Amino acid sequence: MRKIIFFVVMMILFSLYFPHHSRTAATANIKMTTNTIELFDDSLQLVMQELPQNAPVIILAEQQQWSKVQYKEQIGYIKNELLTTVQAKYMLVHSKADWPIYLSDAQQGQLLGRIYLNSIVEMFPSDSPNYIFIRYGHLAGYVDKQAVVEPSTKKKIINDPKVVIVRSTASPSSDVLGHLAANTEVTMLTNFNGWAFVTTKDFSGYVLASSLKNATTNNKTKKIALTFDDGPHPKVTRQILKILEKYNAKATFFVVGNAVQKNPKILKSVADAGHEIGNHTYNHTKLTTLPLQKAKLQIDSTDAVIKATIGRNATVFRPPYGAYDKTIVNQLNVPNILWTIDTLDWKHRDPKKTLAAVQKNARNGSIVLMHDIHQTTADALESILTMLQKQGYEFVTVSEMLNN
Ligand code: ZN
Repeated sequence: MRKIIFFVVMMILFSLYFPHHSRTAATANIKMTTNTIELFDDSLQLVMQELPQNAPVIILAEQQQWSKVQYKEQIGYIKNELLTTVQAKYMLVHSKADWPIYLSDAQQGQLLGRIYLNSIVEMFPSDSPNYIFIRYGHLAGYVDKQAVVEPSTKKKIINDPKVVIVRSTASPSSDVLGHLAANTEVTMLTNFNGWAFVTTKDFSGYVLASSLKNATTNNKTKKIALTFDDGPHPKVTRQILKILEKYNAKATFFVVGNAVQKNPKILKSVADAGHEIGNHTYNHTKLTTLPLQKAKLQIDSTDAVIKATIGRNATVFRPPYGAYDKTIVNQLNVPNILWTIDTLDWKHRDPKKTLAAVQKNARNGSIVLMHDIHQTTADALESILTMLQKQGYEFVTVSEMLNN
């Protein structure tokens, strides 16, 4: 009995003396050198090596003033104030093979393990030209810099009635970093071998891919492209810009070359507000009635005046009256864009009718034809935006719509 009590007391004393033995961190603790600094031996007197700036070190133990660290093959001591924590960057392991992790960036560095294709690792700044320094759970070391690329992200939702365990690596035996409740929104960076790496506001790690579902496509993903032709107009275009800004709406302006020449500042403010600029010919002529040479001049001179005014090219084209043929399309360097909803705003000049035309026909992917040269169109715009916003539409440029 006394022997047992003695043994238990010794065990408790042992764990008090060496608390880090009884608990291991879920991931390696990495810090960086702030400058060229000296690595001391355990007498804290003798310099073993000079470490370069931005050298990643693994913290083995932290005391009041000194940290016991590992830098490549060396283990020694550095004053805490000379080390700094850095934000790691999540990177995707790519290429065909699994990549070796080495203790150092030397040719014959000791092999620590491997990082798996399509896994996410944490990348730290490195003091090596050809190697990056990465962390994967307990593993930390040097990997060929060609091993990783920036991951793409996807929104996902935790789809499990029970809490989902977040782990440090893609393995059921790796450390638990935390838990995620049902319906938590996460950002997924990779999905491989049944595991997904997710980040949340609080922490990041691996979860079973089967516990995720796609973020529900809500109404917000409906898109509509409002287009305004025949400007820029000194008064109406300005009003339209103001209203669009209020609703954080982006639109496309198909401008006429001679109007740009008269109102360059207006076009500049349209472009500066982030709207798309399209070419709508120089004199608003029906191109199909012109000889090819003249039709081409209508397009090219407008391109030139747009470029000279805003410093970049028109990215879309719309033929006046929607009149085009194959020969004209062959002259274009940008997409030829018509419309799916004709508001006839130029004809009736009635804000209520303009609103009604949009209301009746709007659906995801619609391109709405309006004209920023009529006051009645500007008068209709706010009610159109309010109505569409209530229905969950996002207002995008024509090119944004085409690219989705
Ligand atoms: Zn027009």
